[in-house]
This record gives sequence, C-alpha cells and structure tokens, in this order.
Amino acid sequence: MDVLQLDVSGRPQAWITTREAAVIYACDGVAWTLGEPCQVLRGGWQRVSGRQSRIEVHSIIAVRGTVPSRAWRQAPALSNAKLFARDRYVCAYCGHHCLPEDLTREHIHPTSRGGYDSWMNCITACRPCNGRKGSRLPEEANMSLLYLPYVPSLHEDMILRGRRILADQMEFLLASVPRSSRLHG
Ligand SMILES: [Zn+2]
Repeated sequence: MDVLQLDVSGRPQAWITTREAAVIYACDGVAWTLGEPCQVLRGGWQRVSGRQSRIEVHSIIAVRGTVPSRAWRQAPALSNAKLFARDRYVCAYCGHHCLPEDLTREHIHPTSRGGYDSWMNCITACRPCNGRKGSRLPEEANMSLLYLPYVPSLHEDMILRGRRILADQMEFLLASVPRSSRLHG
C-alpha cells in the first residue's frame, strides 16, 4: 500500500511508502490527513511509559512546510506505462484492448520526420498497427485515430503513476481530474 503525499495546500506531490510516511509522522511533519488510518506501525518501547509507540498512517497526508512542486508547473513526464494507462490499454488505430507488453508508444507525427516525443504527439498502438503505419503520418497511411492524445493533469498523473490506489485516494484525485479525461470513462 502506498500513501499519497500532498503539500499543505492539497496538491499531490508523490506516492510514498508507509515507512516513509511514518518518518514524517515521527518528525511531526504531518499537517493534516484525509481518510481513515490504513495501517498501524509499531515502533520502539518507551522507557517512561513502558508502552510501545505506534503510528497510525493515513492513506492521504499533507506535509508541513512549503515544498515547491515543480511537477505542478510542468507537464508530467512521459513514460510508456503512463501513456498506456492514459489510453486505457486500447490501440488508437484498431481499437483492440491489449496487454501492456503488446503495446507500443506510437508517434503520430514520426520522430524521424521531426515529431516530438511528447504527450500530444504520442498515442498507444498495438505492435501490428505501429508496424503497419511505419514512419508515415496517419493520413498517409490511411489510418485514423479512434481517440485523441492529451496532456494529463497533475492529479491524473498521480493516478497513472499509482500502483494500487485505495478507494479514498482515487476519490480525492478523481475529484480534480477534468471531466474530459478518459479516466472518467
Ligand atoms: Zn492496433
């Protein structure tokens, strides 16, 4: 299970482990939390009270201090895993739903012809479709896109990066994802 780390204003910053979250709790670095405690970590025995310390880790924590998030200003980094998740593992040309290992990052405007390696120029394609299109533009290959590329928002990027997202984390993130996103589909 991963903990969703926010800054004090509620902007998503990172997925961190419960151990990393516990360190922030122990340093009194948690400003506020959302959701139910999702894990209890036990620490050392306290000499005075004779009790074992315990930390209740919440699934969403806002961390004190202002850590300027560069991610907030930039487009999220592009990766195959996030691209395939954005496009719901569906080939943009034939519409087949595929396993990640059968998918490729397809450049709509080929990089060999000056196309960018960016969210807006990349789409998910199965291997046969990518091979068939080659270094042609979609119209040259007579292959039209079944859906369009877009740049994910920061909240959406956190969803695309998440491994096992808990229901309350998903609810929090989806609330800030534009309705136009495919994640609402
Ligand atoms: Zn295909």
